[in-house]
Amino acid sequence: MTTTGFKPKDAVGQAAGQAFGPVPMLDLARQYAPLRAELLAALEGVLDQRQFILGEAVSAFERAAEAHLGVAAAVGCSSGTDALWLALAAAEIGPGMAVVTTPFSFFASVSAIHRSGARAVLADIDPVTFNLSPTAVEAVLDGPDGRAVRALLPVHLYGQCVDWTAFAQLGADRGLTLIEDAAQAWGARWQGAPAGALGDAAAFSFYPTKNLSAAGDAGLVTTNRPELAERASMLRQHGMRVRYHHDELGWNARMDGFQGAILGVKLKYIAGWNDLRRAAAMRYETLFRAAGLAEDGIYPEHGVVLPSEVPGSYHVWHQYVIRCGRRDALREFLSARQIGSEIYYPVPLHRQKALAALGYSEGSFPEAERAAREVLALPIYPEITVEEQETVVAAIADFLGDKN
Ligand SMILES: *Cc1c(COP(=O)(O)O)cnc(C)c1O
Repeated sequence: MTTTGFKPKDAVGQAAGQAFGPVPMLDLARQYAPLRAELLAALEGVLDQRQFILGEAVSAFERAAEAHLGVAAAVGCSSGTDALWLALAAAEIGPGMAVVTTPFSFFASVSAIHRSGARAVLADIDPVTFNLSPTAVEAVLDGPDGRAVRALLPVHLYGQCVDWTAFAQLGADRGLTLIEDAAQAWGARWQGAPAGALGDAAAFSFYPTKNLSAAGDAGLVTTNRPELAERASMLRQHGMRVRYHHDELGWNARMDGFQGAILGVKLKYIAGWNDLRRAAAMRYETLFRAAGLAEDGIYPEHGVVLPSEVPGSYHVWHQYVIRCGRRDALREFLSARQIGSEIYYPVPLHRQKALAALGYSEGSFPEAERAAREVLALPIYPEITVEEQETVVAAIADFLGDKN
């Protein structure tokens, strides 16, 4: 990571001792401003060709995505949720089978498993990375649910890959299909290999807040197995290989031309944006340490525990997530100062009403439950300024200081 690209401090604001203005959680206006002409031209191309669903813009994005990730095939679809379902269905995961995933993720990681007809089985997370723990998965595989498990669906949470060395080993030892939920991890790498190219198949989301985002809903399935790509393409079009001849019960899960066009433009910039996110994450680390707020343990005592990059991993910092013991009070304090923050995720999936039938209870996954109480995501995006990051850290220092 380099420090080039850092903007100089606003000496005037500092000298005047002023508090800097609001810090939004995300500001897409800054991303769109310099791309406006290029994006409008790409959208105009779709209008001129009138290929509104799939079509050339989507194919062009799929081919560019394949080259970018070094995967054999990429299949554009309507959302990250559909990408997860397509990946599972393409791999013929269905009724009577179980899939292991994490309780600490967005709901779709589990709901897509149920949509495939399979049953979700959960395992606890690693408290340092917040990612699915391979040790906990192994314990599940050796337990009563283990025999039904056909696939593992780890999530590269917050932009950092799961311990793929361990998951690849587990998959090989037990003959399991590996599906990556890479919705938050475009550009992340594990020992040099990109997220999306690690498992049998992977699912990306381009929801507008993701690090690579469309202007609406869109998703992508990637795979190095051509037969899975062929099945995903068939399933996203109502199970059709030949028009109006339906081989299987698929669904309408296609990508729109406009989204393909937007993504084709943004793909050219994502590597640079990820580098800026990495620089911003490093800057938070420096600022928190300089302010004496960073604690070295796994759980917070008086200060905050900072997120870290695992050796061998290339983190793209989709989110910068700290732990804080008085998380809810901190969040209110930041809101009062117009500093954005978010909780991903306040309720672990096994405590969701819709998933009560999974049969878990409070205490089933203590690490996920504790994380849900302590995590706070701070503003991070490629365009965030030094002043904004200083404002965030200064506010947290005030909160943790004596007067609170
Ligand atoms: C966003 C997200 C999804 C779902 O993607 P959509 O495009 O919103 O359907 C799935 N899994 C994870 C981990 C996500 O962050």
